[in-house]
This record gives sequence, structure tokens and C-alpha cells, in this order.
Amino acid sequence: MNRQRTDSIRVLIVGDSPALAQALAAAERDPRSLDVRMVPSIPEAEALLEPFPPDLVFVDWRLSDLEGFLERIRPRPIGRVIIGPPLSASEVVRLVRLGAHDFLLAPHHPDEVLECLRRTMALVREHRRVAGMAERLQRQLQQLSVLYEVGQTLTASLRLEEILPSIVDVAIHLTHAEEGGVWLLDETSEALHLRVHRSRDAEASSAISTPPLTMPVADSLLGRAVRTGRPILLGPGVHQLDTGILVRSLLYVPLRAHGRILGVLGVLNRLQEAAFSESDVHFLTMLGDYAAVAIEKARLFEAIQAEKSKLEAILQGIEQPVLVLDSQETLILMNQAAQQHLGLPPQAQGQPFRSMVSHPELLSLIDRKPSTGQTVRQEVTLPHHLTFQASLTAVEGVGYVIVMQDITYLKELDRIKSEFVSIVSHDVRTPLTTIRGYVSLLPRVGPLNPRQQEFVEKVERAMQTIVELLNNLLDLSRLESGYALSMETCSLTGILNEAVQIIRPQAEGKQHTLILELPADLPPIQGDPRRLEQVFLNLLSNAVKYTPPGGRITVRAREQEGYIAVQVSDTGVGIPPADLPHIFSKFYRVRREGEAAEGTGLGLAIVKSIVERHGGRVWAESEVGKGSTFTVLLPRHPIHPTLPSMPRVRGDSAQDPEPSPYKQHSQPDGIASHQAPSKGNATGEQ
Ligand code: ADP
Repeated sequence: MNRQRTDSIRVLIVGDSPALAQALAAAERDPRSLDVRMVPSIPEAEALLEPFPPDLVFVDWRLSDLEGFLERIRPRPIGRVIIGPPLSASEVVRLVRLGAHDFLLAPHHPDEVLECLRRTMALVREHRRVAGMAERLQRQLQQLSVLYEVGQTLTASLRLEEILPSIVDVAIHLTHAEEGGVWLLDETSEALHLRVHRSRDAEASSAISTPPLTMPVADSLLGRAVRTGRPILLGPGVHQLDTGILVRSLLYVPLRAHGRILGVLGVLNRLQEAAFSESDVHFLTMLGDYAAVAIEKARLFEAIQAEKSKLEAILQGIEQPVLVLDSQETLILMNQAAQQHLGLPPQAQGQPFRSMVSHPELLSLIDRKPSTGQTVRQEVTLPHHLTFQASLTAVEGVGYVIVMQDITYLKELDRIKSEFVSIVSHDVRTPLTTIRGYVSLLPRVGPLNPRQQEFVEKVERAMQTIVELLNNLLDLSRLESGYALSMETCSLTGILNEAVQIIRPQAEGKQHTLILELPADLPPIQGDPRRLEQVFLNLLSNAVKYTPPGGRITVRAREQEGYIAVQVSDTGVGIPPADLPHIFSKFYRVRREGEAAEGTGLGLAIVKSIVERHGGRVWAESEVGKGSTFTVLLPRHPIHPTLPSMPRVRGDSAQDPEPSPYKQHSQPDGIASHQAPSKGNATGEQ
């Protein structure tokens, strides 16, 4: 009866019951199947519970503290049988409630005892099976919840220094390993670098030698996880790794994100015997998947941060003011130059642009919101006489970028140049008038022979050209220096009729047909009638001049969305594409073979200047040998009629040649789509 085998049923009889022990011995078929001990009292029984954990206890009903004993052994998976004479129903109920499984009455017949033993053991086994299952489920649930939490923590963090240690800690915790580590592949994917190594308990870690910091992918067990893309499992038993370390069990899983292996997550045991299970492989693989995504995300974030810092440094280093707005016009970025020139505090970043900047020219630039990829420009004058050329570009996914180029020095140069031209022109004109006077007096002081007469006429013609040039220069300089226009409500019908009337004799001299097509209801506009007439006289006289005899010159006008468009077309020589972008520049003249047309090259520059002072725009379309069309677009009610700068045309910048550094010009939306030159050679700007 003193045998103790692990596969036998351990029976403890509590109370003095030799009859039961005998009955058990008699009932036993296989002598090895029962291991029976008998103790007289409950304290002795309890002392035996640890050294001899019973599967089944028989307890005498008469023992004192029976109920306390049943209560105390309730959590243990032990079968409980009460031995005694017949008990009352209420006693049975009370004992069952305290955990009694069965009752055995004396005398103890072996068959009956055996039957009771079987019944109770069946109950105990079932109980143990369910308890085992619950425990396994509990563990899996715990692992899953750890994984869930890990997933959340990992995906919430974007810093590798935070992510990697927590991955290793969780790997150790989940697999009950002694230590673990994360190795990440280098850029060449030829070596794995140990990024984090951790031990289960901090004390042990000081005693443990750290694995090598770098391992080749080609010839190492660690590298095999990368090469094969599969988990590596070692143990149980003692294994010497290629690093020289002795381990009892080891598990490496590849870290894979989006089909790419980033490194290896590993756990190992050097001292404890426990091998890693299939479930450990499963969970570590899952953890590896989470970890890899988190690592990749953190790396991307690091790269973006680095890129952002670089861009910020560049942005801050730029001398020109740069501002970035989102599509809601919130100021999301600005450099120091912008802060300084616009007097913005650092906290302006993140605020609505309009609440921080009150400069009217900048606000009107923002109002013009270009479409994606397009740029609009505006001249902006800031306090302290600084002038900037501000460009606003719509950038997809960002919003708007404003870059301001300081053009103060160009403005100043221009002013000096205009002043110089004006002074020189003025000063030259006076002696020239004297020369003219004396030349015209020459025939009066004595008869001139025919040669002398011819020379005098040549001198007079040359002087006439010089006077014209000087007048034009002075005119242009007056226009550019902001000399006020005499704005009034005027009728373009009247102005165009007058201009045609003036030019008609010249046109008829060259047998041209001159046609004026005006709608009856052309509305009046705000403008300087004398200057506007000058515009059309210039265009008409060019049309006459650059059209061979017998040509057709047509003037048309029409109203459209608050603007009036006037077109002067001819059937003349046309303008070569290479010259077209420059014809509105001062002194620019097209060189044509055998051409003797006289001119100063200032006519179109004056036209452009006057039109822009009216808040309008002028451009030309032409085809060599077929003719040219000049279009003048004038707003009926100019907003800033005397401001020399103009908004730029949406969408036609590609056709523009190098823009003038401080004058940009535009055509209003709506009109642009109908009127802007669409093909062939066209320009309106220089
Ligand atoms: P210019 O005094 O030379 O006429 P403009 O400024 O009026 O100066 O014109 C600049 C150049 O543009 C001219 O040299 C001429 O070649 C060209 N041009 C202007 N209008 C026409 C036109 N209607 N047809 C052909 N060429 C023209």
C-alpha cells in the first residue's frame, strides 16, 4: 500500500477506517493502480496534501472540522467522498454544497467501494480536463490581449528608440524566454545589426554576455531567418551558436513588412530547459508582423522628419520672404525673411493669413487664387519703400506658396533711367528748336542752289525724326513716372471714330480699305480720352505703315463682362514669331529686308503703357505674310487706373517671354479664356 507511482490514483483516507482500506485493497484489480494512505485526523491530512497530493479523499463524517476541511480543499481538483452511516437529507445537501462528490455507507463492500471510486474519479478527470482547457484558453487570451495592446502601442509610436525595446520586452514576456533581441538589416541587406538586447530580469542581464553587434546574413543562423523568410527554432538540448553562445532553446522570426524583410526578432534560453512551443512560434511571428510595420512606419517618419528639417533649413536660409498657406488660407509656414518684412510674430504660424496680414496688395493677390500649378503675380510695396514682386502658386496637396522677390533696386534703376531720359530729352529739345529755327531761316537770308536746298530738306527731315523721338521719350517717361491720367467717362465709339477719321487720309494714300465695325450699344468707359486716342492712332498708323498698298484694315469693338475689347487687324506683312514677344519693348523694331518704314520703336511701348495705366492689357497675334491683329482689353471701370502694375494672365505665362522684373500683366478671368491668344504667334507682354 506504500507504492507511489505517478500513473497510479492517489487515495487519502481521513479517519480511522481500516475496513475501507481493506475494501479498497480487495477491490484493486491491478495492484499498481492505487496508492492509498490513511491518516487519523484532518490536521494530519492537510499536512500531507503537498507531499502526497491526493486524487481522491475519503473523509469520516464524524471528524471535527469536516466542513472547514471541505471548504479549504475546495479549489483543488480532488474527488471528495464522505464515509458514514445514513445522513439526513439536510446534512447531505449541506455537504454537497461544500464540495462532497459522493457518500459511502458502512459496511464497505469492495464492489461498492470500487464503483464509488470510479464515479468520483470520472468526475475528477472531467473537472481536470475542463480546468486544463480553461487554463490554455486563458493563456491564449492573455497572449492575444498582450498582442493587441502591443499592436496599439507600437502603431501609436513613431520613434524607433521606443518601439524596439518594447517589442523585445513583449517577445520575452509572451514566450517566457530569458532574453531577446532585435536585429535590423543594413542598407546593403548583407549584415544584421543588433539594435536592442534585453533580458527578462535586469540582474541576470549584467551576467549575460551580449550577442555580437553585427552578424552577416550569408553565413549565420540569424541570417537564415532572413534568407529563408521563415522562423528558426532550436531546442531542447544544448546548442552552440555560430556566435559561440551556448543555448538550450532559441526562436528567430523574420520581421517582414509589405513583403520586405527588415530584420529578425529573436528570443532564447541559456539556462532554463523549456523549449519554445508551436504557439510561441505563432505568437512571435504575429508580434514580428506588428513590429515590422511599426518599424517601417517609424523609419519613414524619421526620413520625412529629416527631409522636413532639411527643407526648413533651406527655407529659413532663403533671403526672399516665403509663406505657405493651406487651402483654407491658414499660414502653415513662413521663413525669417517673411517674418521680418511683414512684421509677423512667430505665433502667426497656424493662424488665418487674413487675420495676420492686412497689406491690401497681398490680400488682393490671395483673392486671385490660381488653379493648381498656376501662378499669379502682384507687385507689393511695403513700408520703408521696399518693392517686391510677389508670386502666388497653387500647389496640389499643400495649398498656396507665396514667394516675394525684392525688386526695389530695379524700381530705383528704372526711376533713375526715366529721370535721366526725361532730363536729356528736355535739354536736347531746346537747342534742337534753335537749330530748326535757323535751318528754316536759311532760304530767307539768301537764295539756295538746288543742292543746298536738298541738304536743308534732309536736315529738316532728320530733325523732325529726332523731335518725334524726343517727344515719344518724354511721353513714355511721363507715363511711367505715374503722371496722372485725366480719367473721365468717355465713349470709345467717339474715340475710335475720331482716330479712324485722322488716319483715313494716310490709309487712302496707300489705297487701303479702312473698316470700322462697332456695335450700336457700346457702353461708355472710364478713361483718359486723349491717351486712348493715342493708343488707337498708334495701332492704326502701324497697320497702315506695315501693310502693302491695297490692304484692308479693320477696327472692331465689343463688350464682354465689364471689359471692352478693341481689335485692330490688318492684312500686312505680319511679325515673325521670334520678334513677336519683343515688339512692346522700348526701341524694339523688327528688321525686315528692304524695309524703309520710318519709326522710333517706341509706339507700341507707349500703347502698352497707356493701356496698363487704364488697368487693361494689350497683345498681338500675327502670321508673317498674312497680317496682324492687336487686341486692347480695357476694363469699363478700372480699379486702380493709375497703378502701373497689373495682374498676370492666368494660363498664358508659358507663352510669355522673360517677364519684365517688375511689371506683370494680366487679363481678367473669363475674358482670358475667350480672348487670350490660343495659337500661332502671339504676345502682349515683354
Ligand atoms: P515703330 O516706330 O518701329 O513702328 P512700334 O513700337 O510702333 O515702333 O512697333 C514696333 C515694331 O513692331 C515695328 O518695328 C514693326 O516692325 C512691328 N509692328 C508694329 N505694328 C505692326 C503691324 N501692324 N504689322 C507688322 N509689324 C508691326
